Amino acid sequence: MNIAIAIDGPAGAGKSTIAKLAAKELSFIYVDTGALYRAIGLSAYRNGIGSKDVEGILELLNTIKVELAFNENHEQVVLLNGEDVSSLIRTPEISMYASDVSAIPQVRAFLLDLQRNMAKTNNVIMDGRDIGTVVLPDAKIKIFLTASAEVRAKRRYDELIEKGMDVKFDDVLNDVVTRDYNDSHRETAPLKPADDSILVDTSDLDLEQSVAKLISIMKEHM
Ligand code: C5P
Repeated sequence: MNIAIAIDGPAGAGKSTIAKLAAKELSFIYVDTGALYRAIGLSAYRNGIGSKDVEGILELLNTIKVELAFNENHEQVVLLNGEDVSSLIRTPEISMYASDVSAIPQVRAFLLDLQRNMAKTNNVIMDGRDIGTVVLPDAKIKIFLTASAEVRAKRRYDELIEKGMDVKFDDVLNDVVTRDYNDSHRETAPLKPADDSILVDTSDLDLEQSVAKLISIMKEHM
């Protein structure tokens, strides 16, 4: 029986960075489910379909294939119709597209089996918004990772600047707050802690402390 660890939480809580390092330590596969929604967002964007054009997005779903693969460093790669789009999906524009398309129930249904199958065949740490509540309700450990909006925006801002992107802090903060609102207020699979999740606030922790805290929770509950 494979072990699944679900990590949910708002944008920029550090889920991916922390989960990636924890997965390495535990020799689990790390699955970033946000990348799947981003790939669909990117596809809509490329095809000139508005992020809130539900009919257009539904038509698009009939024509695209989204897959996950792992490279030689065991890092996740997301494929859109066979093309590796892992880097192209990391822009602020595609973040908003992903948030909008993820509110469409059929988009969530489209990605459900893919996510569940990853956990059937591997020990996984899976991060997202609805992993503990919808995708893997039987996950062995559920963590809800959060931090204040300002701290999350600052981390995102630093990340984007490091990648050489020309962004303003206020725009990043606005983006984080808007996405949180959208993600927690949609009808299907809204962002919320599972009843049996462990809440971890990383506002006052640096990366090393956050990873250590998560690993100790995981080891304790495994
Ligand atoms: O995690 P990330 O910021 O890459 O996710 C991008 C967007 O995808 C989120 O804002 C959210 O709207 C959506 N998402 C989701 N469910 C997940 C993962 C991501 O709705 N499990």
